[in-house]
Amino acid sequence: MLRPMPWKLWMLDLAREQSPTLDHLYQYAMVAQDAGYDALGLYLEHRFAFECTPWSHGQGCVTPAMIQNLQSEFPSLQIVPFINLLGHFEGFLYTEEGRPYREELFTGLQACPSNPDFIKLCQQIIDETVRVFKSDLIHIGGDETYQLGRCDKCQSRMEGQSDDPKAWLYGEHFAPLAQRVVEHGRRPGVWGDMFLEHPGALESMPENTLIFDWQYQGGVAETSNKFPGFEVVACPALHVYNAIWMHTGLTEENVRAVARDTHEMGLYGAALTTWEAGLFGAFDTQFPAIKWAAEVFDNPSHEPSLIDAYGESSEWARLMGVELERLGGVFKGTKLRNQLKVRLLLYGNPFLAWMHHGTELGGDTGMDALAIIEKAIKVAPDEATKNASFFARSAVEAVRIMNEAHKHYARREADAAISKLTPLRHLFDTLEKLAKQNVERIGSSRADIERCRAAKRHVEIVMQRIRDYGRGELGYLPAFEVLANHRFMPHDQGCWWIVNKWANE
Ligand SMILES: [Zn+2]
Repeated sequence: MLRPMPWKLWMLDLAREQSPTLDHLYQYAMVAQDAGYDALGLYLEHRFAFECTPWSHGQGCVTPAMIQNLQSEFPSLQIVPFINLLGHFEGFLYTEEGRPYREELFTGLQACPSNPDFIKLCQQIIDETVRVFKSDLIHIGGDETYQLGRCDKCQSRMEGQSDDPKAWLYGEHFAPLAQRVVEHGRRPGVWGDMFLEHPGALESMPENTLIFDWQYQGGVAETSNKFPGFEVVACPALHVYNAIWMHTGLTEENVRAVARDTHEMGLYGAALTTWEAGLFGAFDTQFPAIKWAAEVFDNPSHEPSLIDAYGESSEWARLMGVELERLGGVFKGTKLRNQLKVRLLLYGNPFLAWMHHGTELGGDTGMDALAIIEKAIKVAPDEATKNASFFARSAVEAVRIMNEAHKHYARREADAAISKLTPLRHLFDTLEKLAKQNVERIGSSRADIERCRAAKRHVEIVMQRIRDYGRGELGYLPAFEVLANHRFMPHDQGCWWIVNKWANE
């Protein structure tokens, strides 16, 4: 007889522009509690109103009062803060007051561990976190610090330090911060990835540090034994960041494999991570999967599949989570963020989606995708699932519209190209409305609303450029991707803004 998982946490990523109200936080806490999780992790970064960083409080961030309220309403659920104190500090670094803390100019997401003001800030953040959050566990981050040692100051400090200077620098930064958590009478948690890369850094960490080993492909059998002397929490993920909605097959494999390894290796527990609900993700479309994962954590052979767990929405989940993926190409599950959604909305130029996927989605794959998505829309039971499908349909349609416009443009049929593009304005208006609904309903990304507005504005700019230059008025016809680029400059026929890599600022 299998014993249930000793400790289960669900971690919710609030850092990708999520703006939950207290009601939304209640919903999340209800889901976590009903599913049997011991803890709800709130991954915060800059989305918490720290008193010591009054300059970082973006609209809709979580406040200390909300946390106090949540803790008194859900006394049996641990509310665990996930702060980040080196890597993934970007939400602070890209503000005016936060820029002095950066490791490098205008790139990456890491602060400088050799900056004494930054160390002081980390200490203040810990002290404040401990004051607000009652949970025994305080997770202080530590993942993806790929910029270790890039600045001159860090370089010179690292010189001559051990066989692995990066391990030294990392341990030198995190060990005292973890120790500070210990001195507050709490238990520090850290992500495991940098310790896998720089095992030497483990030596300096307090012995009760809990290591969160995140492995989103397969299980943790090969990694979780690489933290000798430390207790380990195994972390799978819902595969949503790399999907138009979710890769249910990859999610199921990952959650089951991690659950199995956690039991077999006798690990401390498991933490389901749900990342990046920006770009039209909506956490309420994931609730059935989150509940299902808790059951699989207790019993890795738990019968119902992830799709079955969607109950009356299971046909919708199958179409969006299995059928779309079968089309391959941009619908395939990889380790990367889904390229269709980022190219459509993240970079402020939706024509990038056409540049990379115009051929693919302009043909049969696009038609097949639309047919699947239409079926999904018909069976979607509520606003959350419908909006996820509407977004997928709009993404494919937008690329197809741009593809048709390009055909006319290539023949110098400027008017026809412009009228092909006209429906895109309505398409982005509609997406903006859906983004607003997602914010209202479940506290999703406010940036998504702005992304849709920016996309529409850019379409209008490109339409104007076609009007001005689309018949060869410059003496040449700029390639469509050039004309559609933000940095397009008439008469700069050789595109000097792109031919050299260093121009890419
Ligand atoms: Zn530095």
